Amino acid sequence: MTINFTEPEERVALREAVKKLASKYGREFVEKQAREGGKMTEMWLEMGQAGFLGVNIPEEHGGGGGGMADLAAVLEEASAAGAPLLMMVVSPAICGSIITRCGTEEQKARWLPGIADGTLLMAFGITEADAGSNAHNITTTATRDGDEWVLNGQKIFISGVDEAQSVLIVARTQDAKTGKLKPALFVVPTDAAGFTKQPIPMSWEAPEKQFTLFLDDVRLPVDALVGDEDGGLWQLFAGLNPERIMGAALSCGMARYCIDKAVDYAKTRSVWKDQPIGAHQGIQHPIAKVKIELEQARLLWQKAAALYDAGDDFGAGEYANMAKYAGGEVSCNAADVAVHTHGGNGLTVEYGLGNLLVASRLGRIAPVSREMILNFVAMHTLGLPKSY
Ligand SMILES: Cc1cc2nc3c(=O)[nH]c(=O)nc-3n(C[C@H](O)[C@H](O)[C@H](O)COP(=O)(O)OP(=O)(O)OC[C@H]3O[C@@H](n4cnc5c(N)ncnc54)[C@H](O)[C@@H]3O)c2cc1C
Repeated sequence: MTINFTEPEERVALREAVKKLASKYGREFVEKQAREGGKMTEMWLEMGQAGFLGVNIPEEHGGGGGGMADLAAVLEEASAAGAPLLMMVVSPAICGSIITRCGTEEQKARWLPGIADGTLLMAFGITEADAGSNAHNITTTATRDGDEWVLNGQKIFISGVDEAQSVLIVARTQDAKTGKLKPALFVVPTDAAGFTKQPIPMSWEAPEKQFTLFLDDVRLPVDALVGDEDGGLWQLFAGLNPERIMGAALSCGMARYCIDKAVDYAKTRSVWKDQPIGAHQGIQHPIAKVKIELEQARLLWQKAAALYDAGDDFGAGEYANMAKYAGGEVSCNAADVAVHTHGGNGLTVEYGLGNLLVASRLGRIAPVSREMILNFVAMHTLGLPKSY
């Protein structure tokens, strides 16, 4: 049997269509929105209307009926055009996947069409200040009270809550308050009584903001619970593996953007007689090196997405982690190379690359840090003793 390393025609066409739409907005739009406190809403809704945000959502719920490989291709193209839509990692990928796989028919009908066309933005909150990389330590607790759930706890670094109508909150039930995490997932409206948010000043300039959340006796109807309270970790990973694949695709798109910028500048900037700076190996080799790293990372996310779409959650987990690692590395390396190729211009506001030095670091830190992926690969792939 042959292994096909080229994407199907439909996905190539999808990439072209996304590229065309995203290029209308591009880097300048993102920088302007970030500077002026604006959002990506206009582009987001246009992407939703075109069907790009919901390519992974089942057709009967308003989506395109494709898979994670399609959604990741959409995000990679938008990012390569300079307009990474961070909330795609969250709303259609994490929340859309979890609701599709674990929700009731009623929940799917309620939330998926809006997630697919972009009119419903759902954020996702798992991280807590005192748990950090160790999600088994989260303490946000859901207590059953008659026909309601009552949530109490805090979350940190939750993206896009100011734009979202609801947040998918990862909690633990009173009965499973200690020990290994048995996640219970709740859709919490952002206007619920007892739910408050506080923006976190970040040194990364982006339209998407991060928040600390406080849940004080937030009362929710019984059907706010998605999946089974005893369903175990797989329900969470139905969303976290897509999150890693999307993180990798976003990073790869950002790396493509940086490489394109570096190549253009290297071809046109000339300070030694008639030769452009790109004629020198000192400039060529670092760009060529990140191009190779980029193609490695792309292969990894494509493999992870193919495994996920084939229903192999275990295999997808392993490759989604590796892809996220490789994506985070190449986005940082490519941003560094792009800035350096531009000399002083690399740090000017006009060329808009300086902010990418910070933005690209996100791929190393979130949603799971480089070190935690190395821990995972060492233990699960290589069979070394658990180190943490
Ligand atoms: C811009 C941004 C957006 C985010 N958006 C969201 C969101 O929407 N929803 C959400 O839930 N979360 C979000 N996060 C949180 C993100 O997932 C966490 O920051 C990430 O998981 C790391 O957790 P931490 O920041 O607590 O780092 P810590 O866990 O405190 O780790 C600090 C450092 O120690 C290292 N480390 C920790 N433990 C080990 C170990 N055992 N071995 C080796 N090294 C170790 C880590 O790799 C890291 O370098 C976001 C974060 C950022 C920066």
